[in-house]
Amino acid sequence: MTSVNDSSTSAKEPEFSQSTQSNSSPSNDNWGYDLYPERKGAKYKPTWTRRIMGLEGREELDKIKCERNVYSCIVKHPVIKLMMASLKSNGCPFDIRRHISCEVCDHAVTGGYDPLTNQIVVCQNTAPTENQVGGVMSHEMIHMFDWCVNDLDFKNLDHLACTEIRAANLTHCSFMSAWFEGSASPFNIRQTHGECVKIKAMTSVMAARNVTKEEATAAIDRVFPKCYADLEPIGRRIRRNSEDMERAYAEGPMYGYGT
Ligand SMILES: [Zn+2]
Repeated sequence: MTSVNDSSTSAKEPEFSQSTQSNSSPSNDNWGYDLYPERKGAKYKPTWTRRIMGLEGREELDKIKCERNVYSCIVKHPVIKLMMASLKSNGCPFDIRRHISCEVCDHAVTGGYDPLTNQIVVCQNTAPTENQVGGVMSHEMIHMFDWCVNDLDFKNLDHLACTEIRAANLTHCSFMSAWFEGSASPFNIRQTHGECVKIKAMTSVMAARNVTKEEATAAIDRVFPKCYADLEPIGRRIRRNSEDMERAYAEGPMYGYGT
């Protein structure tokens, strides 16, 4: 088995940036494409135990439900609409059929961004609700924006740290997103915003790369001031109330986004 640490010698290293489940992290030999079996071309096949238990066919239903949630988020979610508009105005038009894929994933992740195909993976088995799908999509769309607009190099740990800081800052650590994702709690809300961003970014970096906590923290600290201050393309930290989300979307055209 190849060591995932050995990035210098593995040419086909998967370059995934993952949305993780809170409280779980993938084991060492369970990362990158291993977390997204369908990325390797293996269509999920129900096992004989699942057939016996009458669960066969569940995956197809999950996929339909997931695609319905994705569509619903694209139509309704202001942040996702803003992200789509900003991608388009930056020369990276977003096509729901081309750029989003509902797949069966490992239980450690709820979604991911695959820069090799420029696709967002929404995990149909671990992100079953519309709110979770919205959380995954808005997070991964920040990575897509950075890859497309900011020439992000996922192999560079500082770049990865930067885009995870931005995703945490603009989506996860906003009150609304935390609420959408079901991770809002009195503890989370009491944290300062900066702490929330650092903790979430560290979790994400460690899920995407087999680095130590110290290495992840060092990378985050190196780029934090610059990347925390970069609010493109949302233009503000969305907090406390949904009006911010609506306002960011309404102000989009002033920054050259939108139709
Ligand atoms: Zn991420």
